[in-house]
Amino acid sequence: MLTEQEIRDNLKEVEDKIDGAVKKSGRNREDVKLIAVSKTNPVEVLEEAYNCGVRTFGENRVQELVEKIDYFEAKGIKDIEWHLIGHLQTNKVKYVIGRVAMIHSVDSEKLAKVIDDESAKKGVITDILVELNIGDEESKFGLSFDNALDFVEKLTGYKNIRVKGLMCVAPYTDDPEDNRKYFSKMKKLSVDITDKNKDNNSVCELSMGMTGDYAVAIEEGATFIRVGTGIFGKRFYPEKK
Ligand SMILES: *Cc1c(COP(=O)(O)O)cnc(C)c1O
Repeated sequence: MLTEQEIRDNLKEVEDKIDGAVKKSGRNREDVKLIAVSKTNPVEVLEEAYNCGVRTFGENRVQELVEKIDYFEAKGIKDIEWHLIGHLQTNKVKYVIGRVAMIHSVDSEKLAKVIDDESAKKGVITDILVELNIGDEESKFGLSFDNALDFVEKLTGYKNIRVKGLMCVAPYTDDPEDNRKYFSKMKKLSVDITDKNKDNNSVCELSMGMTGDYAVAIEEGATFIRVGTGIFGKRFYPEKK
């Protein structure tokens, strides 16, 4: 478990790297949101990060996410934005609707429909991203790139979800440059989507880039980066699949 000072130092390093990438690509710092991926870390560590100014957390498992939201709510802390970044099963949708700022992992119409239904029940509109399996990896969730445009179009028919953009988990690599082509493909697609939905005032968010490759992702247009180990260090226990 990292100390608050260690987290502060890591955040500084991440911020410096973000600044570098933003400058290099002529973008603004405000256009990139850092999501601190806190999965597997105990709430005490999230509190340390909160004390360092972190207000946006990402979690990939519903139960863990909900427990952490409950913990902070019980303390009267209300200014945290929670992002669900991991695979979501339809039977768990009801636990997160109205509690998360965004669901990053929508990859089927079945799931979209359940999110829409649950959102209608609760009287909310849920912001979502469409997850793409950009590297066509068998082990990964997400829609194939070629189906993305049609899928986004279909989702505009649902009244209680708002498609805010695209998300991907790029292939694991030691050299972040390997993923530049995927990030740039995502960017191109997001431009196509924005062009098609001009009436929709859509800014197309791009959730891409993790600890190993977020600088490259920013250079290619990421608006959300999801950084876990770069902030919290090595994770505590192997993730359950
Ligand atoms: C765990 C996770 C991350 C963060 O990964 P790091 O390499 O630790 O930064 C980002 N996105 C998703 C979907 C994750 O599950």
